[in-house]
Amino acid sequence: MSKRDYYEVLGIDKNASKEDIKKAYRKLARKYHPDVNKDDPQATDKFKEVKEAYETLNNDQKRAHYDQFGHTDPNQGFGGGQGFDGADFGGFGDIFDMFFGGGSSRRRDPNAPRQGADLQYTMTLEFEEAAFGKETDIKIPREETCETCHGSGAKPGTHPETCSHCGGSGQLNVEQNTPFGRIVNRRVCHYCQGTGKIIKEKCNTCGGDGKVKTNKTIHVKVPAGVDEGQQIRLSGQGEAGSNGGPAGDLFVVFHIKPHKFFERDGDDVFCTVPLSFAQVALGDEIEVPTLYGKVKLKIPAGTQTGTHFRLKGKGIKNVRGYGQGDQHVTVNVVTPKQLSDRERELFRELADISGTPLTEIHNENFFSKVKRAFKAD
Ligand SMILES: [Zn+2]
Ligand SMILES: [Zn+2]
Repeated sequence: MSKRDYYEVLGIDKNASKEDIKKAYRKLARKYHPDVNKDDPQATDKFKEVKEAYETLNNDQKRAHYDQFGHTDPNQGFGGGQGFDGADFGGFGDIFDMFFGGGSSRRRDPNAPRQGADLQYTMTLEFEEAAFGKETDIKIPREETCETCHGSGAKPGTHPETCSHCGGSGQLNVEQNTPFGRIVNRRVCHYCQGTGKIIKEKCNTCGGDGKVKTNKTIHVKVPAGVDEGQQIRLSGQGEAGSNGGPAGDLFVVFHIKPHKFFERDGDDVFCTVPLSFAQVALGDEIEVPTLYGKVKLKIPAGTQTGTHFRLKGKGIKNVRGYGQGDQHVTVNVVTPKQLSDRERELFRELADISGTPLTEIHNENFFSKVKRAFKAD
């Protein structure tokens, strides 16, 4: 049987780049590797052919030679299938490594120190608590290193032993014989469940885990000025690490309840105060609630509804120490819904003096802008 052209085998053209060659090989290896394709009796032969083509074309020297002489070059001796005897016929795992940049072959030492997981806790704060900060205790369910065995999982006075089956690596090599020789696959050692250690006498407190679940009380200082969604990190307050590794971190995320009177945008506080027509028409001095107590605010005569005043420095202290916000007060003139006879009499009198129907005075304030917005004319 005459040999097929290597480019044809891989389904690529003569100018294919190294990347193209690799890609084609991965695709075909996935299809024909005997570890993967057990149903097709021809898969093994096809894989052998694909591998040979790949090994030749992926090597610059061999490829140049092949391009010049083809299969007939006597010096190469490819006819006998040289260069891919059983010994260098890798398991599917090796090709699998190639797919993912060798990730799966990275042998993780089960005895290496590992950091514990990070935890997240959401703390709900009142508006004022966020503004001024507070100190509080929270309870966090987390894993901690067992104090009885100090994390070893072995009964005090005993020690975990290195697993004799995997030599402490946590992985076993499983050999398989194929027509091309041995295929070696790595599997998690089932004697030690991948830990590399055998604990003969388990610690009674943690049952051999080396960790115990607890409800840990942690003191939290909420900084003044925190805003919705901001978080603080409490280093080392997460889950316990393994094999002497450091604990993870605890992230406390803040959620702030809405206030019945104030609103917040960054460090600035906003509020709306209702005023009567008389107050804005004649002017007044009112008391406005702030986070720091009541503050006097002068309302000049003739103030329009929607006018906004600024109370400098009455906002929220910046959480990073960059100054302080302001409080913004918006005036909302409230039209009385029910009038006494005397009030009605006075308003009529007022309307007569100003020469404008009273309803229109109010309409001017509330509706003329709306009308203008909707009517182009
Ligand atoms: Zn223990
Ligand atoms: Zn083992």
